Amino acid sequence: MDILLMGPPGAGKGTQGALLSESMGLPTFATGNLLRDAVSRGTPLGLQARAVMEAGKLVSDEIILGVIRDELDRPAAAGGVIFDGVVRTIPQAEGMERLLADRGRKLNAVLFFDVPDAEIIGRIERRRGIEGRPDDDPAAVATRLQSYRDQTAPVLAWYESRGSLIRIPAVGPVDDIATRVRRALALQGT
Ligand code: AMP
Repeated sequence: MDILLMGPPGAGKGTQGALLSESMGLPTFATGNLLRDAVSRGTPLGLQARAVMEAGKLVSDEIILGVIRDELDRPAAAGGVIFDGVVRTIPQAEGMERLLADRGRKLNAVLFFDVPDAEIIGRIERRRGIEGRPDDDPAAVATRLQSYRDQTAPVLAWYESRGSLIRIPAVGPVDDIATRVRRALALQGT
């Protein structure tokens, strides 16, 4: 079972991904976490990605498709993965479709966590106080939201045209949103 979580920064993909991972017994894979880890360890990948990430811009499609391939080749990922924020451009969506197809797999569902901008900005400000992520400062957040609108929002339409997009209203208590996710996946037979 392969499930992709999409939505703007601060939409709750990480929180809901962790809950889904527990209930479905699948690993989660978040490119943002993998890249942050690479930056903090100073690996070649981290050195390549650092400046782009701190500015709130998107890392190249080539790098992202490389890390998705590595993830899919892990034995622990053989039964499916909850992909959190892994696809943010149309070339990434196309590349991921090919990588999965090569392994006889496809995305079973794409969940879009829908949250209004005003709520997003408040959530990221709170997260900044807790986690201190450098790309949560106001200038980088503005760039991240712009990258999301320009490059990631069109990907939603791409998935919608393939019939795999499920919209989850994602404002409210975490448990209520988790219930919406479970119901949506059950309705879809996932
Ligand atoms: P996140 O924690 O998901 O907000 O990701 C943090 C940063 O990592 C983003 O602002 C991007 O710079 C980079 N990143 C994560 N995933 C991707 C992706 N699929 N495509 C391009 N850049 C990404």
